[in-house]
Amino acid sequence: RTVYVNGAYVPENEARVSVFDRGFLFADGIYEVAAVIGGKLIDFPAHLNRLHRSADELGLRVDASNEELLAIHRELISRNGISEGVVYMQMTRGVADRDFAYDTDSMEPTLVLFTQSRPLLETSTSKNGMSIVSVEDIRWGRCDIKTVQLLYPSMAKMEARSRGADDAWLVRDGMVTEGSSSNAFIVTGNGIIVTRPLSNAILPGITRSALMSYAAATGTRIAERTFSIEEAKDAAEAFVTSASVFVGPVISIDGVELSGGKPGPVTMGLRKTYITESLKRAN
Ligand code: PMP
Repeated sequence: RTVYVNGAYVPENEARVSVFDRGFLFADGIYEVAAVIGGKLIDFPAHLNRLHRSADELGLRVDASNEELLAIHRELISRNGISEGVVYMQMTRGVADRDFAYDTDSMEPTLVLFTQSRPLLETSTSKNGMSIVSVEDIRWGRCDIKTVQLLYPSMAKMEARSRGADDAWLVRDGMVTEGSSSNAFIVTGNGIIVTRPLSNAILPGITRSALMSYAAATGTRIAERTFSIEEAKDAAEAFVTSASVFVGPVISIDGVELSGGKPGPVTMGLRKTYITESLKRAN
């Protein structure tokens, strides 16, 4: 693979970032993951908007323009021949001798991008659904910022795997916040889609927001409210959204089967809507 590091396209085994990079030493960095289908980027403008928001919240400088960032994405997609997969983009505060205090103005931000080629449309998750277990949400108070501080979500996912499940839903005070790397939704018996409102407790998912607008446009009723893990186990259907999964059906929660242990019809309808609508707008 060719990867991008600070202005250069290089083979992945020649790419270098300093051991003094604050991304490495302090998780002082942010990232975005955009899906590619048919060589085109899904929801790309929204990913750029969120990158800028994350950067503003942490006082990181984004030196590259949006046009440059799009051009780098396209160049990597083309060089690596990506038809279906993702582009990962990470920006850190940059390199400085190790110190908790920092002076952003005197530092050059580090910008790294790479691609991953993998099927997104036809996956075993989309066909068979995924099993979820609940794990306590003990993350920090700014989960709305997309930082590279991903140790706890990784641990939650490993906890899920060790319990024989595919992924974890994080629960705070009995209420579901979100998935380890996705937003969480349930579908009630009368077909209303429920998801937690945006706050510092969850990431404002790009897929979440796009799906909600497509769903609203097709007349689906949506309620943004908190819901408990108990309500989720009782729901007609459940699903997750994320840039690489799109809409992923959940077929069990803590061992309780949902929608007969198969992807639910409302979920699969929304998956289809999301894919159709986002492809129309792809870059
Ligand atoms: N929540 C968390 C904690 C995530 O890591 C992700 C994926 N990065 C999401 C939600 C989904 O966001 P998006 O739809 O923008 O990928």
